[in-house]
Amino acid sequence: MSGAYTTEVEVAIEAVREAARLCHAVQVSIEPATLSKKDRSPVTVADFGSQALVCRMLGQHFPSDPVIGEEAAAMLRTADNRAILERVLTNVHMEVPEATAEQVLSWIDRGGSRNRSDRFWTLDPIDGTKGFLRGEQYAVALALIVDGVAQVAVLGCPNLMDPNDGEVKGVAFVAVRSEGVTTTSLFVDGDRRAVSVSEIGDPSNARFCESVESGHSSHGDAARVAGVLGIHRDSIRLDSQAKYAIVASGQAEIYMRLPTRPDYVEKIWDHAAGSLVVQEAGGTVTDIRGRPLDYSFGGKLEGNSGVIATNGLLHDEVLDALKSAGVA
Ligand code: AMP
Ligand code: MG
Repeated sequence: MSGAYTTEVEVAIEAVREAARLCHAVQVSIEPATLSKKDRSPVTVADFGSQALVCRMLGQHFPSDPVIGEEAAAMLRTADNRAILERVLTNVHMEVPEATAEQVLSWIDRGGSRNRSDRFWTLDPIDGTKGFLRGEQYAVALALIVDGVAQVAVLGCPNLMDPNDGEVKGVAFVAVRSEGVTTTSLFVDGDRRAVSVSEIGDPSNARFCESVESGHSSHGDAARVAGVLGIHRDSIRLDSQAKYAIVASGQAEIYMRLPTRPDYVEKIWDHAAGSLVVQEAGGTVTDIRGRPLDYSFGGKLEGNSGVIATNGLLHDEVLDALKSAGVA
């Protein structure tokens, strides 16, 4: 990939790789006993550690770019959370041995912007926290937004196989607007190879994906829409923006994210990277009413409701089915 945003792409890949190594190390060390106690501390530690590493790298290379990240360090500064901060620091030391606790806190806080600006980054340090805790899919999602439009995206999926190399687990999808999308290994240096959406144009042959969590996307409404479309296969349920990755690489044709309540407004960091990845793979992304996702409001997609990502060929039919099913 050559052309616009070359430095941004290189820095974003490095940042997401560092963060993914940290998250992976934390995930594989989760003891089954931790899960049975419903202890969320591993994901808290990895979330903060991931945001610290990405924001440190962005701050070094692009000191004037704001970052709208999911986390804020305020909670980590309290005496009660001293032990969590120590664990974050221990994990950050694997990538940055000289880091101090104060530095880690200030890197995390670099991601605390909430207001729109002409150019900013948005980061989900661990998207799919429930999947992370279950040992399943999660993502480190980073995107550069310029004038309300995503221009660069790096979507790191540590537990997804590289669609260009079925032997390699851990893949980054790298997209630049108008330049396409490639995949590369998250954990080893390697080539970048293009991916594209599937060419299935008959909805009855389509595969659709959705959240594992029914609180994040209505499974009932999705089943009704699938019925209208004549889809006979079960949905593919996976956590995080790995759903966008699956559509972008032709492993599913449709991703439906259908509101579970009318007042929920989607967060930009849950969609900015994934939506560009699908668009650059040849697909289409809108909200449930067919409106483009609008990143110009700040931290939330205030002008949108839900999300539909498809291979493009099926998009209009899905939007029509949403209306017929009374969902949009
Ligand atoms: P998923 O992996 O598809 O389950 O989506 C995870 C994301 O869902 C998290 O990063 C949250 O920001 C977001 N989320 C939380 N509550 C809701 C909700 N009620 N509707 C839609 N998304 C939500
Ligand atoms: Mg998220």
